[in-house]
Amino acid sequence: MYHGVTHASEKGRREPEKDESSAAQDGGEKKERVLHTRVPAVLERELKRFADNLRVPVSNLVRTILEDAVKAADVAGEGMENRLKRAAQALEEKREKMNERLERSLAQAALREAIAFQAVRLTRETACGRCAEKMPRGTEAHLAVMPTMDAPRLFVCSACVPQEDEEGETP
Ligand SMILES: [Zn+2]
Repeated sequence: MYHGVTHASEKGRREPEKDESSAAQDGGEKKERVLHTRVPAVLERELKRFADNLRVPVSNLVRTILEDAVKAADVAGEGMENRLKRAAQALEEKREKMNERLERSLAQAALREAIAFQAVRLTRETACGRCAEKMPRGTEAHLAVMPTMDAPRLFVCSACVPQEDEEGETP
């Protein structure tokens, strides 16, 4: 092992103004800054809708996502460049998950508007619009008949289709 390597890393730790982020971790956590950033309009819409769904301000949501992403990168304990890469990756994954959740909650909201459910036989694998369970080809599913033509086309599994009435035997 090289003597210089250990020495260099120790030195780096001691230099106070060398790394802003480590200074922030050490004691400046209470200091908050406003960060302005440009995001694509699509992402902004997603964030707004998601925040609305969760009933939290968009800025809170963004902060939570960023904190999670950075935390995930921290745990990995790598160099700055790798950390940032990981943070970006984690963000991307978060965004995908968020998208999935968003799509699901939108589907669930849409399903509440359905005026009828029609039994159909699937010719391809389809996810239930309510529980997201994958229904294989050949399954009997139920098509939600929506009040408007431009509504999304949604299918639900037999467990999720509303029953005639809750009286009598339960399915
Ligand atoms: Zn279902």
